[in-house]
Amino acid sequence: MSKQGILIVVSGFSGSGKGTIMKELLKRYDNYALSVSATTRKPREGEADGREYFFKTREEFEKMIAKEELIEYARYVNNYYGTPKAYVEEQLAAGRDVILEIELQGALKIKKKFPQALLLFVTPPSVNELKRRLISRGTESNEVIEQRMKRASEEAEGMEAYDYYVVNDVLDTCVEDVHRIICAEHGRSMRNREFAEMIKKELKGE
Ligand code: 5GP
Repeated sequence: MSKQGILIVVSGFSGSGKGTIMKELLKRYDNYALSVSATTRKPREGEADGREYFFKTREEFEKMIAKEELIEYARYVNNYYGTPKAYVEEQLAAGRDVILEIELQGALKIKKKFPQALLLFVTPPSVNELKRRLISRGTESNEVIEQRMKRASEEAEGMEAYDYYVVNDVLDTCVEDVHRIICAEHGRSMRNREFAEMIKKELKGE
């Protein structure tokens, strides 16, 4: 069947745990490639340039937009975030499943540009749990937490655009759920038209 990699968009409320799930997925399986985004937001403690993000000034980011180096970009809580094009194209061509951990506006742009992309939405089991996780992360001020809760409410309006919801209650279960969904997607008929044609031809003795 098709060896073409799948472009996978993973979104979820800030605090849904999607970052942790993706890191774990990459540790367990080797066919995934995680795209590193560019952003104008300041690094958080423990984040390294080129690992969590490529940290850019506003001018640098706007230059990347002008040179069409990004597949998509969006503004989120007063900063730019965007997906560099080259890495995604390279990895897909090499047959790897490429994960973009991006927010709703970006996800919608990807779906329009790449109708075969797989869109996953990660959600905590409840809103109370979401708030608890955001507070316990301890990296954000109250004001930013409130902004992110408001943004979560806006993002929930876009949940219907996604192909699957993944509830992040127990991390281990959730990682395996994501992996199983992606494995199943590889067998989807729309991704394997050539394979079907080959079978048909062979059956006709051509
Ligand atoms: P954070 O500041 O918490 O790292 O990320 C804020 C939001 O921006 C998250 O929802 C994250 O998924 C999203 N994000 C990260 N990179 C990109 C990107 O390249 N494009 C878009 N559209 N959103 C992104």
